Amino acid sequence: MTARRTLIAGNWKMNGLSADAKALAGGLAEKLKAAGEVNFEMLVCPPAIMIPVVAAAISGSTMQLGGQDNHMNEKGAHTGDTSAAMLKDAGCGYAIVGHSERRTDHGESDEVVKAKAAAAQANGLVAVVCIGETEAQRDAGKTLDVNGSQIAGSVPDGSTSANTVIAYEPVWAIGTGRTPTSAEVQDVHAFIRAELAKKIGQAEADKTRILYGGSMNPKNAKELLALADVDGGLIGGASLKVDDFWAVAQSA
Ligand code: PEP
Repeated sequence: MTARRTLIAGNWKMNGLSADAKALAGGLAEKLKAAGEVNFEMLVCPPAIMIPVVAAAISGSTMQLGGQDNHMNEKGAHTGDTSAAMLKDAGCGYAIVGHSERRTDHGESDEVVKAKAAAAQANGLVAVVCIGETEAQRDAGKTLDVNGSQIAGSVPDGSTSANTVIAYEPVWAIGTGRTPTSAEVQDVHAFIRAELAKKIGQAEADKTRILYGGSMNPKNAKELLALADVDGGLIGGASLKVDDFWAVAQSA
């Protein structure tokens, strides 16, 4: 099996002011520096306006920086939006695209998510493409269908393991304290990898990191991160406290 380096990614969503961002990012960077060699990579994705503060706070550490979204276009009349080039320019290496909150709050379709992912990749960012079923879809037995069609529709053709990470985030598990069983998570991740292989080839799919997201925390992280096709986590709530996020990373 191909070795995939575990990625522990924090999605701060719309939380905190600049002092909080500085303290959180700085605290994590200190822990990473003090730890020396570790068997995981860490990424923080603050609100766009906090990116410069966080970039300064993590400087000199191996902490990586990402945006929570980017526009599909390079520039122009898109009030309030951030381009992938702007994220790159501000020091980001990653951009989350297609988070379920954006799919819901902003009506983003697979087609839009795919265009955003392509823009991220074209600007030298790794696109963290989020997919996942709602509770109603799960109850209707459609979990695999939904995730399969989101992979087909949201991942740009020609994506590679170097410019793409997939985050499987069951919508009903986000911020609820509920998670699928470990067996369910593993089954969906293996299915996602197989679907990805249809799109980008088996060799690249085998190297692509597939993160689990949805109420991952210091208590359940070890079990989830040990699953064969789980290559890290995309963490919301538990990424907002230094000790919690560090404890999740330490579970890798
Ligand atoms: C998320 O929204 O990406 C997420 C996984 O949130 P939480 O960890 O709070 O469920």
